[in-house]
Amino acid sequence: MKDQLTTDNLLGKKVGRLHILALAGKSKSYHKLVKCKCDCGAETIKRLDAIRSGMTRSCGCLQRDVARKGKLTHGDSLKRLYNIWKHIKNRCLNPKNDNYRNYGGRGIGICDRWNESYENFKDDMNDLYSKHIKEFGNANTTIERLDNNKGYYPGNCVFATKAEQSRNQRIKSNQRKFKAVRVSDGVVETHNSQTKFARKHNISRRNMFNILKLRPGCKTAKGWTFSWVDE
Ligand SMILES: [Zn+2]
Repeated sequence: MKDQLTTDNLLGKKVGRLHILALAGKSKSYHKLVKCKCDCGAETIKRLDAIRSGMTRSCGCLQRDVARKGKLTHGDSLKRLYNIWKHIKNRCLNPKNDNYRNYGGRGIGICDRWNESYENFKDDMNDLYSKHIKEFGNANTTIERLDNNKGYYPGNCVFATKAEQSRNQRIKSNQRKFKAVRVSDGVVETHNSQTKFARKHNISRRNMFNILKLRPGCKTAKGWTFSWVDE
C-alpha cells in the first residue's frame, strides 16, 4: 500500500531527464515498471525502484553524454558550465592545482552530490546559470560562494559577473580573520578588518592584502607579517 502511494506520487513527476508517465506492469523479477518519456525524446520502460533511488535518471542517454563529456553537444554555454564544474573540483580536490591551497587546502570542499556527477551540478545550477548568461553573457559569468568559509553546495552558490565577484571578494576578504605578527618582538594581533589595521599602523592595505594572499607569514610590511586565521 505504501508502495502504491509512492508510485502515485511519482507519476507525472520528473526525475533527472525522465518524465514518469504511467505504470507499465511488472518486470520478470516482480519489480514495478513505469513508462517514461526522456528529455532526449525517447520513450522507455524503467524500474520504478531504480528511478526512486536515483539509479536511473535517463533512458540511457545520460551515460552516453557523460562518456562523451569532453565533446558536449549542448553548445558553448553548457561547455562553460561544465568547465566551471571541472574547475571547482580541481581547486577543491587536486593538490597539484595552483589554487588548491586557497580552496581544498583550507577545507573548502564540494558536496558529494556535485562531486558525483556534472549532471547533478547542472540539474541544480543550470536555471540560475541560464538566467545570468542571458543578462551578462557567457564569458562574464562566474560562480561565487555566498559564505567564503564554506564550500560548493547548492545553497551556498550563485552566479556573479567578474566585477561583482572581485568586489565581493574584497569585502569578504576584508572581513576574514587574520593574524598580524610584529617580527621584531613577536607581538601578535588578531583582527577582522584589514582596513582598520592598516589605518591604525599606517600600513598600505594593498601591501597587507598581497602578503595575506600571496606570501602569508613570509613577507613583511613595516615590520609586520600577516596570515589568515581559519575558523
Ligand atoms: Zn534519453
